[in-house]
Amino acid sequence: MQFYSTKYISPKVDLQEAVLRSMPSDKGLYMPETIGSLPKGFFEAEVVEQLSFPELSFQMARCLLKGTIPEEDLKEIVYRAINFDAPLVTLDDNCSCLELFHGPSLAFKDFGARFMAELMSYYVQNSRDGELYILVATSGDTGGAVAQGFLNAKGINVIILYPSKKISELQEKQLTTLGANITALEVHGTFDDCQRLVKTAFLDADLRQKMNLSSANSINIARLIPQSFYYARAYQQLKNKDRKAVMCVPSGNFGNLTAGLLAQKIGLPVHQFIAANNANDVFTEYHQKGIFTPRPSVKTPSNAMDVGNPSNLQRIQDLYNNDVDAIRKAITAYSYSNEETLEAIKEVYEKYNYLACPHTAVAYLGVKAYQEAYGTEAHGIFLGTAHPAKFLDIVEPVLNQKVAIPENLAKLTNRTKVAVQMSTEFEDLKKYLLGV
Ligand SMILES: *Cc1c(COP(=O)(O)O)cnc(C)c1O
Repeated sequence: MQFYSTKYISPKVDLQEAVLRSMPSDKGLYMPETIGSLPKGFFEAEVVEQLSFPELSFQMARCLLKGTIPEEDLKEIVYRAINFDAPLVTLDDNCSCLELFHGPSLAFKDFGARFMAELMSYYVQNSRDGELYILVATSGDTGGAVAQGFLNAKGINVIILYPSKKISELQEKQLTTLGANITALEVHGTFDDCQRLVKTAFLDADLRQKMNLSSANSINIARLIPQSFYYARAYQQLKNKDRKAVMCVPSGNFGNLTAGLLAQKIGLPVHQFIAANNANDVFTEYHQKGIFTPRPSVKTPSNAMDVGNPSNLQRIQDLYNNDVDAIRKAITAYSYSNEETLEAIKEVYEKYNYLACPHTAVAYLGVKAYQEAYGTEAHGIFLGTAHPAKFLDIVEPVLNQKVAIPENLAKLTNRTKVAVQMSTEFEDLKKYLLGV
C-alpha cells in the first residue's frame, strides 16, 4: 500500500518515505491509498469490550497501514507507543470527556509523537543512512511531546527550536531538561521565526546533502494514524452502545479531527463529528459559506488552536472529494470567543466539579450547542486534549483557586534548563547544525 499526495502531482511513496519525508514536494499531504475496514460486528459491545487499548489500537493500525510493515513489527510498535490510557469520564447522562492527557507531556500530542518515534526508530535501525536529525519548531505543546517521545531513541537526534520567553515556564522545562539526544535551541525571536528557520533548513541543498534531516510536525501521516485509536477507545467505554454518539474535537490544525474521520471510515460508529474552534474561526466560516479564506491567527486562551490556515483541511477535503455538502453532513462546526471559553471553564467546574483546560472547554461548548440544536438523542463526547495544569495562568484566575500540578510536571520545576542560544539568522543555525 502506498501513500499519495493530496495535490496529486508528486509520485506515490511507501510508508518509510512518507514518514521520513513528512511532506511531498508538491506541498500536498500524504494519505493512505486504500483504507481497510474492521470486520462486521467488531464494534458490538461483546466483541470490542474484550480488547485491551493496545490490542484495539493494533487492529485499527492494521486497517490503516495494511501491507506496509510486517504485522508482528507493527504490533510491537503499537504496543510500545500506546502504553497509557485514554479514560472516558462521564459528567452526566448526556456528556462525557475523553481524557487524552495521561501521557508523558500531558497533552494528546503524546499519542502522535510516541508512535512516530517508534516508527522512525524502526526505519532508522533498518537503514544505512546513518544518524537522523529531526528538526521541530514549537509554539508550546508539540516540543514537549516530541522530546518525550524520542528520548533515547537510537540513531535519532532531536533539535527543538522554541521562541525565547514566549512559552510557559513548564513548557520550557519540558524541552530543556531532558538532555541525552534532545537539544533545545532558544531562538531570540517569535514562533514564526522558528518555523521559518526549520523550513529554510529543509530547503538548503548543502545541509541536506551533509545531514539526514527529517521533521516531526503535525503534517506527518505518522502522527495522524495513532490519533484514530482513541476514538475507538472512547466508544469502547460507552455504557449504552444502542445510543448514538457524537464526538466534539477542539481544533487548530485539524489533525485530530482528520484522525477521527479515518476511524469512522474503517468502521467506528460515530453519528456526527463536531469541530469546535476558538476565535480563529476559518473552518466555521468555510462550513457556512463554502469558501475557505485563511487569515493570520489571533491569540486566544486556547493557544494550541490559534491557527489561521489549518493544514489538515486539505486532507478533509480530499476524504470528501472536495464536496463541501458532504463535509457539512459529516462535521458540524461551531466557534467561540475568548469570553465564552473562560466562562465555559467556570461552568464545567461549577456544574460537574471538573477541571477543563481552555481547549477542552471549547470542545465542551461544542457538545452543548449541538445538543441544544438537535436534542440529546445522541450522547456527546468531547475530547480533553490537555491537562489543565499546563495552563495555570488561565485556569487559576478564572476559578479563583490553585490547581494541583501532577507529579511528573511538578518535578520539572527543580531541574536546570539547558538551551543553546540562537539568533534568527539562518546562517547561525546552519553553522550550529554542521558542527553537531
Ligand atoms: C494541538 C492541540 C490542539 C489542536 O489540535 P489539531 O490537531 O491541531 O486540530 C487542541 N488542544 C491542544 C491542547 C493541543 O495541544
